[in-house]
Amino acid sequence: MTEVLTPIAFIDLGAQRRRLGSKIDNAIMSVINSGTFIMGPEVKAFERQLASFGQAKFALSCANGTEAIVLPLMAWGIKPRDAVFCPSFTFAATAEVVPWLGATPVFVDIDPDTYNMDPAHLEATILQTIAEGKLVPKVIIAVDLFGQAANYPAIAEIARKYNLKLIADSAQGFGCTINGEHPIKWADVTTTSFFPAKPLGCYGDGGAMLTNDETLYDLMDSLRVHGKAVKSDLAGKNFEHDPKYLNVRIGMNSRLDTVQAAILIEKLAIFAEEIELRNQVAARYNDGLADLVCVPKVIQGGLSTWAQYTIEVSDRDGLAAFAKLRGIPTAVYYPIPIHKQNVYSGYPKGPGGLPVSESKASKVISLPMHPYLDIATQKIVIETVRQYVLGNDR
Ligand SMILES: *Cc1c(COP(=O)(O)O)cnc(C)c1O
Repeated sequence: MTEVLTPIAFIDLGAQRRRLGSKIDNAIMSVINSGTFIMGPEVKAFERQLASFGQAKFALSCANGTEAIVLPLMAWGIKPRDAVFCPSFTFAATAEVVPWLGATPVFVDIDPDTYNMDPAHLEATILQTIAEGKLVPKVIIAVDLFGQAANYPAIAEIARKYNLKLIADSAQGFGCTINGEHPIKWADVTTTSFFPAKPLGCYGDGGAMLTNDETLYDLMDSLRVHGKAVKSDLAGKNFEHDPKYLNVRIGMNSRLDTVQAAILIEKLAIFAEEIELRNQVAARYNDGLADLVCVPKVIQGGLSTWAQYTIEVSDRDGLAAFAKLRGIPTAVYYPIPIHKQNVYSGYPKGPGGLPVSESKASKVISLPMHPYLDIATQKIVIETVRQYVLGNDR
C-alpha cells in the first residue's frame, strides 16, 4: 500500500496563489485604496482582455455563471411556452434559469464519448417538440462539460435550420477550442463562470458573457444593471441625468465586483499557459491509465481546458473509497442527471429518454486535476487507480 503523508489536493488553488504572490495582493489593495468597488476601471479592462482571449467582439462581466445564462435569455424575451433545449448531464444551473422565466427546459441526451450534447438527439428532440405543438422551440444551451467544446459545428447547423438561438455554457470550458476556434464562432453568446474551482476562477463569485452581437451586448448591459437606459434607448431622447436612473426594462443587479475583476486580470495573464499545463497533466493520465480504464476522449480538433479529468470504472464508489484511504480525493460529476432530480423530473425529454446520461451518471469519477499537479504526485494517483482496477475491476 502506498503511504501518502501530505494530503493531495483535488484542485490546488494554493499553488496558483503562491505563483501569483504579490501580484494578487497588489491588485486587491489597489482597488481597496481606490475605493471604486463597483464598476471600477478594472471591470472594463478585464472585459476587454476577456473578449480578446475568447475571440469575441464584446465581453460583459456579471455576478456569476448562472446569471450569465439567464441574461441572454432575458434579452431574447424568453417566456412561458418557450422551449429551451439543454443537456441533463450537467450542473443544475444550465437548466435552472429556464423556469425562472416561466419557460420549459427540454432535456437532450449526450454523446457517450464526449459527454456533450448529442446533435442527432437534439434534432430528434426539436422535431418531437414541434410535432407535439405545445411549446415553441427558441434556444439551445450546449455545455462544454469537463472543459471540452460541444460539437458546435453540428449543433450550430441545427440551430440555423430551426431558427434557434445558441448559448455556449462554457462555465467549465472557457478557453476551449475546435481547430483553434472558440465556441463564439458558432454560438450567439458564450457564457462562463469564475467560481473559484473553474479553470478561470476568481476569489468569490463571478461570471461573464461573450458575444459578437452588439444589440445583444447592449441589452445584456442594460439588464445587468436594473434595466438602465443604454445608448440605443437614449437616441433622440433628452435625459440629462445618469442613465442608470432611466430604467427602460425589468432588469436585475448582476455586476462583477471590481476586486474580482482585478484578481481575474492577473489570472487571465497566465491562463493560456495554465491550459497548456492542464493538457500535459491530462496526457500523463492518458499514458498511465488508457490501457486499463475508459479515459476521456476529446472531439476531433478539440483543445480541452480540463476542468475535470473524468474516467469510467464499473465500481466507481469502490474506487473512491480505496483512493480516499490513501489520501487521494476524487469527485463525482454528476451522480444524478438533472432530469432525474425530483424538481426537474416533470420537464420533457427527447425521444427514447436519456439512456446515455443515466448510464454515465453511475460510472464516472473525476481525479485530481489542476495545472500544478506534479509528476510524482500524479504517479501516486495513477498507481492507486491501477492497483484498484487490477484487483477489483476485471
Ligand atoms: C459552474 C457552472 C455554472 C454556474 O456557475 P456559477 O458561477 O456557480 O453560478 C453553470 N453551468 C455549468 C456547466 C457550470 O459548471
